[in-house]
Amino acid sequence: MAEILVYVDHVDGAVRKPTLELLTLARRLGEPVAVALGNGAADTAAALAEHGAVKVLTADAPEFAEYLVVPKVDALQAAYDAVSPAAVLVPSSAEGKEIAARLAVRIGSGVITDAVDIEAGGEGPVATQAAFAASFTTKSRVSKGTPVITVKPNSAPVEAAPAAGAVEALAVSFGPLATGTKVTARTPRESTGRPELTEAAIVVSGGRGVNGAENFAIIEALADSLGAAVGASRAAVDAGWYPHSNQVGQTGKSVSPQLYIASGISGAIQHRAGMQTSKTIVAINKDAEAPIFDLVDYGVVGDLFDVVPQLTAEVQARKG
Ligand SMILES: Cc1cc2nc3c(=O)[nH]c(=O)nc-3n(C[C@H](O)[C@H](O)[C@H](O)COP(=O)(O)OP(=O)(O)OC[C@H]3O[C@@H](n4cnc5c(N)ncnc54)[C@H](O)[C@@H]3O)c2cc1C
Repeated sequence: MAEILVYVDHVDGAVRKPTLELLTLARRLGEPVAVALGNGAADTAAALAEHGAVKVLTADAPEFAEYLVVPKVDALQAAYDAVSPAAVLVPSSAEGKEIAARLAVRIGSGVITDAVDIEAGGEGPVATQAAFAASFTTKSRVSKGTPVITVKPNSAPVEAAPAAGAVEALAVSFGPLATGTKVTARTPRESTGRPELTEAAIVVSGGRGVNGAENFAIIEALADSLGAAVGASRAAVDAGWYPHSNQVGQTGKSVSPQLYIASGISGAIQHRAGMQTSKTIVAINKDAEAPIFDLVDYGVVGDLFDVVPQLTAEVQARKG
């Protein structure tokens, strides 16, 4: 059976959810072989095996932490050379996309970024992408070389599928470019205790209708009742009500959660660009004509200051 290389995103050995989703997709195409790099790489093996990795190739070296992406590309290429896979899957983070693109250039292959689904096809994997602010869904196949595909978080379920997960050390030699860009400092992000916006299964967002930084507490309360991340429209972040890092949209983050709740957001095309692939969309807006209602699965025409606290109370009551 063909082997499918899966690049592992992990934090000190704790595998992040998008990688487990990649394993679900990889199993549709062949046998997943995971590549875990850096501190704690070997500690990823149990979780990867539990979700279908037949093999886990690991490498650790100071270069992975001390320099930007090139050492990781060197390592992924070493895994590619060792395995000769039928496809390479990488999580669609900013770093993941850069690694995927650099690998594709090196191995002379086509790359597909931000896929939201992958199916096996007679002539190679077929990837689904959302294009033009998610107004169109396209299906593409790499026609040259081994397909390198990055996949957005929340594109596939996490499924238990126990496999051997045999750990093998990957021999990596770094090229002259590997040490070209050094990391000089790291500032840990302040934790909110909420899930990462781009990976969250549920996102609750607020827009100009929230009408002030202090009112975002209402949005946060609903998010916390659901275990969700908090998003914001550009109007809200430009007003200084919420950090820019939480902006959803064309010039913000692209999210694709199972559930997206937009409160006081009109649904401008640039906002839709970042959330339209969400599986279920709910909007709360006091204007029945707001464009956001064109794309929702459920809409509430009402004042968010009435509706959102009631929703939070109801969620909490049902949680018991
Ligand atoms: C190049 C470019 C890039 C951009 N990138 C982004 C981007 O990445 N993300 C983004 O979001 N925008 C982006 N924008 C801005 C975008 O065009 C819109 O201006 C923005 O999305 C509007 O934000 P909003 O929906 O919160 O505000 P508005 O459009 O002002 O809508 C506010 C909504 O809240 C409703 N409302 C008001 N009070 C209440 C209440 N009490 N209860 C319920 N509803 C209420 C109103 O009916 C209205 O529909 C970009 C624009 C440009 C030109």
